[in-house]
Amino acid sequence: MVIVMKHDSTLKEISEVLKKIKELGLKPHVLKGKERTIIGVIGRSNTNPELFESINGVEKVVRILSPFKLSSREFKGENTVIKINGAEIGGKKIFVMAGPCAIESREQILEIAQTLKEMGVKILRGGAYKPRTSPYSFQGLKEKGLEYLQEVKKETGLAVITEVMSPEDVEKVGKVADIFQIGARNMQNFPLLETVGKTDKPVLLKRGMMATVEELLMSAEYILSSRNPRVILCERGIRTFEQYTRNTFDISAIPLLKKLSHLPVIADPSHGTGLRELVSPVGKSAIVAGADGLLIEVHKDPSKAISDGFQTLDFPMFSKLLSEIKSICNAIGREI
Ligand code: PEP
Ligand code: MN
Repeated sequence: MVIVMKHDSTLKEISEVLKKIKELGLKPHVLKGKERTIIGVIGRSNTNPELFESINGVEKVVRILSPFKLSSREFKGENTVIKINGAEIGGKKIFVMAGPCAIESREQILEIAQTLKEMGVKILRGGAYKPRTSPYSFQGLKEKGLEYLQEVKKETGLAVITEVMSPEDVEKVGKVADIFQIGARNMQNFPLLETVGKTDKPVLLKRGMMATVEELLMSAEYILSSRNPRVILCERGIRTFEQYTRNTFDISAIPLLKKLSHLPVIADPSHGTGLRELVSPVGKSAIVAGADGLLIEVHKDPSKAISDGFQTLDFPMFSKLLSEIKSICNAIGREI
C-alpha cells in the first residue's frame, strides 16, 4: 500500500508513520515529491489501512493491486526523470544512446565516440563484457575494454553505458559506467539485480527475450526495493515463431510500460530486429509510441564489426535516423 501524506505534513508526522510501519515488521520506501511525501509500504498485503489513516498528516492510504509496487504508476503518478551528466532521461527530451555492440580496440571506440559526439550524441554504448550464446565467440575485452572506455570518457566528456554480467563485477564496472546495462539474458539474475540495486548508479534493465511485461517490472522491483530508484526499462524484442527477424520487437510494450510504470522506457531496435534496414523504421515507431529514447548499435564499418554487424548502422545511416527523429519530435511535442 501507499501512504499519501498531506502537502503540509510535518517531519514529526512522517516519522510517526515510519515508526508504525517498522513496528508492524514492514519496510517503508519514502518518496519525497515536489508537492508531498508518499510512503510505500512493502510486506504483507492484508495490513489494515486504518492503522495509518488515523495518524495526523496522512491524507489517504491507497492499496496497490499489481504485483509490482515501487515501479507502478499507482505508487508514483509523475514520470521518473533520471539525470546523467546533464542529460535527463524520462523528461521531454529524447535520448539516443549509440555505439558499437562491443569495444574492439582503443582506436575503434575512440573514433566512434568522437564521431558520435560531433553528431550530438551524449551517451555512448559499448560492451566490455559480452554475453555470447557460444563460449567460443568473442567474449569482450573485459578489463582492457573498461580502460579504453575510461579513456574515451576523459577525451570526449561523453557519458557511457556498458553491460555488467555478474555481481562480482559491479564494483569494477561501476568505476567507469555512468549507466549499468543489465542484458536480456540477465533480466532475472536476481543477485545481480540486488547488487546494482545497492549502488546509486542508473540501471538500464533490458527485457528478457522470453519475459512478459510483468516479469520485466518485477525485475525492476528487485532493483528499486534494494533502494536504487534510478531504473530505466528497455524493450529489445522477444522471441516468437517469426524467423526473418532476430527478435520480434514488441511495440505495444512501450505505451503499456508507460501506462503501468513511472520509469523511463528506452527502445533497442538493433537487437529488437537484428536487421540493419529495420533499425531506423522500428526506432522511429518506438519514439512515436512514447519511448524516452533509443539504444542503437553504430560502427564505423559494420561489415567488420566483431559482434552484431548485421544489425549495426554505419555513420551516414545513423545520422539520417537522428535527423528523422528530430522531425518526429517536432510533430509529437518532444525535443532531442
Ligand atoms: C547488447 O546490448 O549488446 C546486448 C547483448 O543486448 P541484449 O542483452 O538485449 O541481447
Ligand atoms: Mn549487441
